[in-house]
Amino acid sequence: MSVTSDVTNSVTSPEVHPIHLDDYIPLIGAPEVDELRAVAAQLSGRTVQMVNSTPTGGGVAEILNRLIPLMQELGLHPRWDVLTGGRDFFEVTKAFHNALHGDPYQPRKEHFDLFLATTEQNCRRLHFDCDFTVIHDPQPLPLIEARVKHEGHWIWRCHIDLSHPNPEVWSFLRPFVYRYDASLFSSPSFARQLSIPQYLFYPCIDPLSDKNIEIDAESQRSVLEHFGIDPARPIILQVSRFDRLKDPVGVVHAYQIVKRYTDCQLVLAGGSAIDDPEGEVVFEEVQRAANGDPDIHALNLPPWSAFEINALQRASTVIVQKSLREGFGLTVTEGLWKKKPVVASAVGGIPAQIIHKHTGLLAHSIEGTAYQIRFLLSNPALAQKLGEQGHEHVRENFLITSNVKRYLTIFLNSQCHS
Ligand code: UDP
Repeated sequence: MSVTSDVTNSVTSPEVHPIHLDDYIPLIGAPEVDELRAVAAQLSGRTVQMVNSTPTGGGVAEILNRLIPLMQELGLHPRWDVLTGGRDFFEVTKAFHNALHGDPYQPRKEHFDLFLATTEQNCRRLHFDCDFTVIHDPQPLPLIEARVKHEGHWIWRCHIDLSHPNPEVWSFLRPFVYRYDASLFSSPSFARQLSIPQYLFYPCIDPLSDKNIEIDAESQRSVLEHFGIDPARPIILQVSRFDRLKDPVGVVHAYQIVKRYTDCQLVLAGGSAIDDPEGEVVFEEVQRAANGDPDIHALNLPPWSAFEINALQRASTVIVQKSLREGFGLTVTEGLWKKKPVVASAVGGIPAQIIHKHTGLLAHSIEGTAYQIRFLLSNPALAQKLGEQGHEHVRENFLITSNVKRYLTIFLNSQCHS
């Protein structure tokens, strides 16, 4: 890994799309929407800044893309800034990310220096003048240094599984965390011993986004046709960045076991994110594992593929998320919302979504994943029931409207305590 960096990406404030709150009434009911408006009224005109490390690719960007316009619609003044850095910076932050998820890693002093130098450049480039600043994940954590000049409320939103962090990386980052007013985690098991308040925040999906809106069968079919996928045979799908922690090669091996017994196809749909430099190598690993099988479709999709991903999810027979580590796994939420049977690893935040044999099936290995896929392929009635129950579970717990309410509540709470 090289250790020089410059701020090369000029990305900031990604494009966001308008949202109308009343459109959620058929999904969550008028009382819920009224309650949101009532809570938001107490924060009218307040400024909110969200900062993360990529404008596209990955769950955080997915959420912010919808959270910002929804807060706007509710009368707040939110904005979204993206950390910039060179490839070597993102190699370091990806290594930190994997290490915080528990992977072995020997950090060197140059890695820490590069991390601090790049975040300092971002500190100078970005403006921090909002009532509430929410910093997402470890990459932008040191931006808290900017607080010296500007007060406001600072919240750290951690989307990753911190239950077994690499001690050196965590010792380096922890002092920054202590300077925040509060921290938000996706699962009670991720919480650490911290001197600041910790809150449970489930990630969420927007049922009205291009990724999740209803798509008719004809449009689904044309997307399958576009990618050369046969609509007449079962489709097993994993949507994920090409990241080793998502174990796409493990998915190929699970599919190869299933294929011995049942004719089916595998679709691995993924893309890249600015903050994930490993994508290309992992994509090649997948291609090697696929070994020329024409029924394996490894799709490297551009960031504007929400509609295609939506169609693939809706057209698939079984959705898989075979992560080795996972903060939450929005792709699981997306599959459940589409009433699909989901087989996913029992890691990180996934068991909050997949209640085994109620909203999907959990697995612990390649063989276990293959077994559960085969089980679902031969029990379509059960597969349908799991999908329907999964949809209700998402409606009750993981929609963006609940998430926005939690943010508003925490902002109000911070205001009261200042
Ligand atoms: N995603 C996407 N294109 C891709 C791969 C993933 O739009 O090529 C989306 C996916 O639909 C989901 C999010 O990125 O909304 C991934 O979130 P998740 O929590 O599953 O994983 P993360 O990438 O944040 O670790």
